[in-house]
Amino acid sequence: MKSKNPDRFNIIVISGPSGSGKSTLINRLVSEHRDIIFSVSHTTRAKRESEIYGKHYHFVSEEKFREMIAHNEFAEWAKVYQNFYGTSRDEIEQKSGNEKNLVLDLDVQGAANIKREFPSALFVFIVPPNLAELKKRLVAREKVIDSHIETRLKTAIKELKQYHLYDYTVINDKVEEAYAVLKSIYTAFNNSTYKKQKMIENILEGR
Ligand code: ADP
Ligand code: 5GP
Repeated sequence: MKSKNPDRFNIIVISGPSGSGKSTLINRLVSEHRDIIFSVSHTTRAKRESEIYGKHYHFVSEEKFREMIAHNEFAEWAKVYQNFYGTSRDEIEQKSGNEKNLVLDLDVQGAANIKREFPSALFVFIVPPNLAELKKRLVAREKVIDSHIETRLKTAIKELKQYHLYDYTVINDKVEEAYAVLKSIYTAFNNSTYKKQKMIENILEGR
């Protein structure tokens, strides 16, 4: 089902391989901008120790997730590393709009689906400086080297090949520099002619 507002221009999609630094950069962007809200996805993956229910994800059973798919409750969903992840239509409808920008942390399949439905959204790709550094960051985060990390590294290569889907790329080598780039991209997006249309019309009408 198509959304009522396919030209939604207040959606920011951020993707990148697991461990590339999406959460780190998104958390900072959200905490420093009152007009940016994080879209909380549903997932069937187990909660990490540092994560909070309802803040990082809505953690649900596979049964519940399938029920939501059957009721067409997702704007997009995908199976990533044997788990389901999805953005509910409710999340988009309730949180975006009113001068707010909604940030979606999505895998490349989800980004492609959102692009079909919301072509005016902003698409940003977060990329690690190299694969060895990516592995180091994954190990440091997960604290163990297991097949789970090897799967994420293999998927990273597949995801990196989809770079052409995105409007901008942020290389996350030094986090401060990467964040500065992301912030500039956001500033440009927020000042696009498309977004300033209403303001220009007001000026023309002498308001
Ligand atoms: P993602 O959300 O893309 O899976 P995270 O933001 O969780 O990635 O980052 C993965 C790990 O790498 C975290 O432990 C984070 O603190 C660390 N990290 C993120 N950016 C950098 C960076 N530029 N340099 C070093 N470590 C980083
Ligand atoms: P993680 O398990 O590391 O939090 O996320 C794994 C992958 O799932 C990441 O690539 C992340 O961007 C993606 N992801 C998180 N939420 C969603 C979602 O709602 N939809 C889709 N398609 N991918 C998601």
